[in-house]
Amino acid sequence: VSVVAVAADSDFPLANIPFGVVATSDGRERVATIVGDVVVDLAALHRAGLLPPALPDGVFDTRALNRFMALGPSATHAVRTRVAELLGADGDLDAVRAALLEREAVAPRLPFQVGDYVDFYSSLEHATNMGRILRPGTEPLPENWRHLPVGYHGRAGTVVVSGTPVTRPNGQRRGEGGAVDAGPSRRLDFELEVGFVIGPASTRGRRVKTVDAAQHVFGFVLVNDWSARDVQAFEYQPLGPFLGKSFATSISPWVVTLDALRPYFVAPPVQEPPVEPYLRTDEPWAIDLELEVDIAPRGKTATTVTRTNFASMYWTAPQQLAHLTVNGATVRTGDLCASGTVSGAAPGSRGSLMEATWGGTDPLPLADGTTRTFLEDGDEVVMRGWCGGGRGTPRVGFGDVRGAVVPAPPLTSAP
Ligand code: MN
Repeated sequence: VSVVAVAADSDFPLANIPFGVVATSDGRERVATIVGDVVVDLAALHRAGLLPPALPDGVFDTRALNRFMALGPSATHAVRTRVAELLGADGDLDAVRAALLEREAVAPRLPFQVGDYVDFYSSLEHATNMGRILRPGTEPLPENWRHLPVGYHGRAGTVVVSGTPVTRPNGQRRGEGGAVDAGPSRRLDFELEVGFVIGPASTRGRRVKTVDAAQHVFGFVLVNDWSARDVQAFEYQPLGPFLGKSFATSISPWVVTLDALRPYFVAPPVQEPPVEPYLRTDEPWAIDLELEVDIAPRGKTATTVTRTNFASMYWTAPQQLAHLTVNGATVRTGDLCASGTVSGAAPGSRGSLMEATWGGTDPLPLADGTTRTFLEDGDEVVMRGWCGGGRGTPRVGFGDVRGAVVPAPPLTSAP
């Protein structure tokens, strides 16, 4: 129960208390949380002396979560606990009123300054589907896949917040007849992913043990890892994804903390063969997190094209973090580690159009009577995610991550 109204189906009850950055109409940005449909200005609460006294001056009066995330899990816990007291059943609405903002009156900003961006490939079903589509007749999983969480280093500078339009990328691709030329991608796709963001940095030369992951993982966001399949297919050998992935990656505006998600941790799938000792973990870090993807053509009704669950991921965050640092590489505050496309085994649970249309051979019907193999200009992709909400567990949600496709700029014949 809260002193502000929270609808039963809200993603943001007091059990959540996620963190983000918002701007008011005067352009001023500050760190905030959200309860129901009310945004709480944490910089204002801090100035009013209502937050834990050990917090550094100005830690919320800024345009990124990085300084706060670097303080580590004890600071996160202290602030969430205090906000729950201030806004809970025994809270004092008059004391906090000056810090409350209507959700419609603020604009969400990119919640943290993204350090390095890593994209994994941790869904067994996704990796298997992609192998079957791209290399039919061969073993779908690469030999390394069950030994280590496969990933690549992506482009941090093009991570954008939900609502940012996504321009169709130009690039080189092979056409129907087999000729290679340059132009707008004809196979623009989404990838449904969930990412974790790093709080405290690690030390160069020292690996992060799986048992220490909770000291470094601040929280999770929804990720749409936009992909140009035709550009990707032509460029990816021998060094891996490049321009087919680097043009945009969208994230949800509210970072849901590890603390808020812990009640929904479940055991991940059994790993066979057993993994190397540095990748082992006994903690149940799979997350029972429902996920959905809608496609809404401009001005038309949305169609839900995917429903799946994050709990099926083969590799979990502590394993990804342990692998990322086993060679001595560091993680820094604000680094974003995305899961890889989340796909289930059933046809309606595939986390990309590449899989849902089986490489573009099986078009998806939409509610407006059209079909899609890949995204068209004007299409908006909306991803939602939430834990709980039934059988007495509170709903802890992520809100959504959305982005609409705008046409590619012309790529003229002149250099
Ligand atoms: Mn991806």
